[in-house]
Amino acid sequence: MSMQPYLLAAEGLNKSFSGFQAIRDLNFALEKGELRTVIGPNGAGKTTFLDLITGRTKPDSGTLHFEQTHDLLRMNEYQIYRLGIGRKFQTPTVYTDHSVRENLLLSLAGSRSIWHSLVGRVKREQEERMDEILQTIKLTERAHAKAGSLAHGQKQWLEIGMLLAQDAKLLLVDEPAAGMTDEETHRTGELLLSLAGKHTIVVIEHDMTFVRQISQGRIVTVLHQGNVLCEGAVDKVQNDERVIEVYLGR
Ligand code: ADP
Repeated sequence: MSMQPYLLAAEGLNKSFSGFQAIRDLNFALEKGELRTVIGPNGAGKTTFLDLITGRTKPDSGTLHFEQTHDLLRMNEYQIYRLGIGRKFQTPTVYTDHSVRENLLLSLAGSRSIWHSLVGRVKREQEERMDEILQTIKLTERAHAKAGSLAHGQKQWLEIGMLLAQDAKLLLVDEPAAGMTDEETHRTGELLLSLAGKHTIVVIEHDMTFVRQISQGRIVTVLHQGNVLCEGAVDKVQNDERVIEVYLGR
């Protein structure tokens, strides 16, 4: 057993949609600093699980705690976001008419309207934080380019940068490699690996080359029919009979 307290702990979560059980007695625990990959066939409940964490939907039963003391089931989506749980959806949602830097500033400021009153008098520490994030996401040279002009991969990195600007403690990242070239995918893996430890990250992903890249020595969770089918090192998981069966069909 680890001595680390869990950053996120779900116990006995259940969620049905009109009689269909999308999440079934789900237990899940995440330590601070982990980079955890969650895989599973379509319909396994991955998106629903992220929806439960972010408060987008509420479960029928079970418990869900963040940093031990925060009962997420008693909080709304905005309160959960304010706690430091940030989510990146599969499709990039950046402000295309604003520059890369402005997009980061919008996340720092928290909202567009706040940004309008802040612009022009950005604090020095915010400038420094943005420079640091730009370096991390390797977009320093594109800082003044319109976000809409970025390549697909760069938009995804900007969105990860926006989660960093929000100071998210837990980053939920939905299929970051979707639609990327092999090189972009590899660079995304390197970015996530560089953030692990300092941040806690949950990645949902299908691309097994990418999963292998980011999971060496880390735990991979396989969801199936709303429950954890198997959990462990990527080699163990990929060779598990049950996992093979689920992916190949019987
Ligand atoms: P995954 O992300 O692993 O593909 P999802 O969490 O999206 O799986 O979906 C799990 C199951 O729950 C699917 O069968 C899906 O059709 C169903 N589901 C998800 N959200 C809803 C909803 N709002 N209403 C009805 N069914 C839903």
